Amino acid sequence: MSSLSQGAPAAAARVLARADELATHSSRPDGIERVYLTPQHRAVNHLAAGWMREAGLVSWEDAAGNQCGRLAGAEDGLPAVVLGSHLDTVPGAGRHDGILGVLVAIEVASRLRDAELPFALEVVAFGDEEGTRFGTTLLGSRAFAGSWQPEWAGLRDADGIRLGDAAREFGLDPQRIGSAARTPEQLLAYLEVHIEQGPRLEQADRALGVVTTIAAAERRMITFTGESRHCATPWELRHDALLGASEANLAIERIARARGSYATVGRIQVEPDAVNVIPGVATFSLDLRDETAEGRDATWDVIRDELQSIAGGRGLDVAIGTTHEAPEVVCAPDLRAAFAAGIQSTGDGAASDVMELFSVAGHDAMAVAAIAPVGMLFVRCRGGISHHADESVRADDVAASIDALEVAVRQLAAEYEPR
Ligand SMILES: [Zn+2]
Repeated sequence: MSSLSQGAPAAAARVLARADELATHSSRPDGIERVYLTPQHRAVNHLAAGWMREAGLVSWEDAAGNQCGRLAGAEDGLPAVVLGSHLDTVPGAGRHDGILGVLVAIEVASRLRDAELPFALEVVAFGDEEGTRFGTTLLGSRAFAGSWQPEWAGLRDADGIRLGDAAREFGLDPQRIGSAARTPEQLLAYLEVHIEQGPRLEQADRALGVVTTIAAAERRMITFTGESRHCATPWELRHDALLGASEANLAIERIARARGSYATVGRIQVEPDAVNVIPGVATFSLDLRDETAEGRDATWDVIRDELQSIAGGRGLDVAIGTTHEAPEVVCAPDLRAAFAAGIQSTGDGAASDVMELFSVAGHDAMAVAAIAPVGMLFVRCRGGISHHADESVRADDVAASIDALEVAVRQLAAEYEPR
């Protein structure tokens, strides 16, 4: 079935060995944590730069600490197809989230070094996607995409260190981070390979899948307010905000599940937070995602009605605030088609049967979509496990992803018509 290219197993072995090497650059001895503008970030940029140069790319670090590499193409000054992902991690991370996409991109660039493509080919290793250090995500890719906000220099990490000071320590000019911005004229497309971070490919017995959209997401804070009373208060006189919130949580699970949306209540706080006092206030977060904003909003409408009905039944007030809202990012049809051709070339799925799926998680592609059409290829990961030390990919899947990305880039080159 498989029609992997000759060099694919060696390339996959190199990618996995490099992922292991990157994993040794961690700020903690008991697991992987590598965050923006740290010595570990410096170390992995240095490694990536070396591998990019080995692959025939010119490499440099941009004003935001993203490590970039470029293969000129048939002539100088051509607009670029960019292959990228990120090298930063969450605390207690695995070794493939983000990293795999960068390493696969370097392999593909190496294969295409003599291809005389009609466009430049760039590889970008973003310095911050996860937002672990400063609590704001996609800092590297948003700088690249021209949406850097100068006030982010004032963000502080858990130790109170300002981003601007960390940038200076790292060797960057905090006033110039925004100059990492690329323009739409410079970019033809952005292609990102990433582990799925979910079990759908594995369940379908597929190595690779084409991403349709990156989920529409929103975050809300929901507060139920009742009455704080002594725990001797009889049942019929209680207005327990935590019981309302608990009932709401179970309703959110039931509604989102039935509708195929993803809903997570990850934080809950009660007041006064005492063992012998009925909670008068319960506040919880809700992260809600769906393939489209339309689907997300339809799920939210049902949830909101249910929250109000639960509050009404318990004599509580409910207040809802929105802290984040983003529509889905739609992957470009021609880039989806190029990835589908790439997957077919590996023998993973017949012509009409390439697996398509939406990304529940956010990615650098969301930021880059502001300035270029984006496409994403998902690689199966074991058990759907990610953001955890047990994150794992198969070598043959990695090999297939390298081949698929190469074919996708070659297809874009074959179809390319200069602007
Ligand atoms: Zn990632």
